[in-house]
Amino acid sequence: AVVLGIETSCDETGVGIVSDGRLLGAALASSMEEHARFGGVVPEIAARAHLESLVPCVRAAFQQAGIGPSEIDAVAVTSGPGLATALQTGLAAAKAYALAWDRPLYGVHHLAGHVAADTLENGPLPSRSVALIVSGGHTSLLLLGDLARDPVVHLGDTRDDAAGEAFDKVARLLGLAYPGGPAVAEAARDGDPGAVVFPRAMLGAGYDFSFSGLKSAVARHVERAGSTLAVPDVAASFQEAVADVLTRKAVEACLAHGVDTLVIVGGVAANRRLRDLAAERCRTAGLTLRIPPPSLCTDNGAMIAAVGDLLVASGAPPSSRHLAADPSAPLNRAHL
Ligand code: ATP
Ligand code: MG
Ligand code: FE
Repeated sequence: AVVLGIETSCDETGVGIVSDGRLLGAALASSMEEHARFGGVVPEIAARAHLESLVPCVRAAFQQAGIGPSEIDAVAVTSGPGLATALQTGLAAAKAYALAWDRPLYGVHHLAGHVAADTLENGPLPSRSVALIVSGGHTSLLLLGDLARDPVVHLGDTRDDAAGEAFDKVARLLGLAYPGGPAVAEAARDGDPGAVVFPRAMLGAGYDFSFSGLKSAVARHVERAGSTLAVPDVAASFQEAVADVLTRKAVEACLAHGVDTLVIVGGVAANRRLRDLAAERCRTAGLTLRIPPPSLCTDNGAMIAAVGDLLVASGAPPSSRHLAADPSAPLNRAHL
């Protein structure tokens, strides 16, 4: 099927067109710079930016795909989780397109979108896999079957901060630019990952995560170091602690559940050190590692179209025309 996907859960307006697992065209606009001076995403600003960017993004995606609206079989949209006003903007647009084109509408879980992004690069997922979702708002280890049909089993989740949130907060502590993830990664390039030994919370204690203690440890270190603070060393040491815990637990989860494929997705999966350490540990453990390219790790519309495509292929019924935004939708299934 040819599916148009719309993503507006946070500050990226993403539109993608996917046909039978293949990405035909995509467009992305971001209001990130407008939020920078507030140090975080301002919902009203994000919603307004989505409103301005949506139609141009849809046009650009069609242009890149070289097709027109008459060739679209279904419309997929992120209906949760995310910022309420931001979600509502995308949902209203998706409903309007579905109605105007007389095509079915599929509400999609944002995090299932992050997982499905990988299929656009690496092909269909195996019948069983473990997914590590590491994004700005979530950190979860999941046991997956068929993404379109089966319920998602949570093996572990963060008890406090998400991994991306930890990167963003540590960036602020280190006086680095917003958003923090890429800035910390950049600073870490010239640092020694062994310079400071930061805590690895909850290792050997199941599959839950905790990153707030790590953030506090960085804050204490920054305070103690004062003017002698070596930003690259702290950034590299922090990044190492995050990558270490994430990859250890993910590999353990695969081995414990007899699953041979680990897929790592979400914005933090763009992190070079996490990718390298995961590759090394999966190789040692005999696991197949799948990670989408960085452009498909962060929020985009193609990943939502990819879930819609899987739902259509599995014969899932369309969502109700009354589908509402669910800002805190739990990840139990891909289809909302
Ligand atoms: P969620 O998906 O949980 O709703 P989100 O959509 O805001 O949250 P994503 O777009 O998936 O999150 O990811 C953004 C997060 O990824 C931010 O916290 C950002 O700092 C982090 N991030 C992006 N690139 C990198 C990188 N190279 N290294 C580490 N973190 C990164
Ligand atoms: Mg974003
Ligand atoms: Fe996201």
